[in-house]
Amino acid sequence: MERTSASPLILIVEDERRIARLIELELVHEGFSVMLAGDGITGERMAREQEVDLILLDWMLPGMDGIAVCQAIRKKKNVPIILLTAKDTTSDKVAGLDAGADDYITKPFETEELLARIRAALRKGRHREELRIADLLIFPEERRAFRAQQEVELTTREFDLLHFLAKNVDKVVSRDAILETVWGYDFEGETNVVDVYIRYVRLKVDEPFTTPLIHTIRGVGYVLRSS
Ligand code: CA
Repeated sequence: MERTSASPLILIVEDERRIARLIELELVHEGFSVMLAGDGITGERMAREQEVDLILLDWMLPGMDGIAVCQAIRKKKNVPIILLTAKDTTSDKVAGLDAGADDYITKPFETEELLARIRAALRKGRHREELRIADLLIFPEERRAFRAQQEVELTTREFDLLHFLAKNVDKVVSRDAILETVWGYDFEGETNVVDVYIRYVRLKVDEPFTTPLIHTIRGVGYVLRSS
């Protein structure tokens, strides 16, 4: 399927083929590109392997249900997820949102409502502040970082340090500048705390991958390089 930047790719995970086909026709008609998965395991794999812009995820699926799929995707990706569900009790909605879904829509639904929610979720995804440096992706508001589409678990201080380096991408920042920004002006401890934390961040952000992003500039400080 031909894909342009103007045509967001939507993954539909739905085991009822008739419903999946109907949604697909509507979305293609609206100019979206569409991929279909007929069960949760396939859906989770496609979400992981493909660069999709949004996922429509049915709750009741054979094998792996929508909640489990949603949780698995959330560990890896920040893509907007809309749950499709026949369940509409409050606790079900809370469970869906707790699992990491951005929105849910109750079956049966009007096509217009589905399209409106898709547009809203795509807008929200676009407006979210993000920093992209090579294959590193940082969402400052959510305090989450991903490298090569895998979430990097960072402590508060580690995140602040990485975020500061990312905001100054390709610029060398001194230890003092890092100390002042990440630890605050009143910091009284050892200045080598910066080097210690750089080591922690490197272990998580650089070491598992082939290309290091954080570089030491001897006698000056550190730089996060985009290439
Ligand atoms: Ca179903």
